[in-house]
Amino acid sequence: MDNRLIELLVCPLCKGPLTMRRDEEQRPVGLACAADRLLFPIRDGIPVMLESEALPLETEGQGP
Ligand SMILES: [Zn+2]
Repeated sequence: MDNRLIELLVCPLCKGPLTMRRDEEQRPVGLACAADRLLFPIRDGIPVMLESEALPLETEGQGP
């Protein structure tokens, strides 16, 4: 996917910056918003920027 396109994308909720998430094979899996802790999935190379489609972002090292 074109990284220049990613740079133009912001979170539809908070308008904040998004971070690309990749799987073990370096394939883009989604765009993460750290502020909202949501992951917007990428399907067929197209980012799905819908809150209803967003997945909860797994946080690391933040247990109860
Ligand atoms: Zn956000």
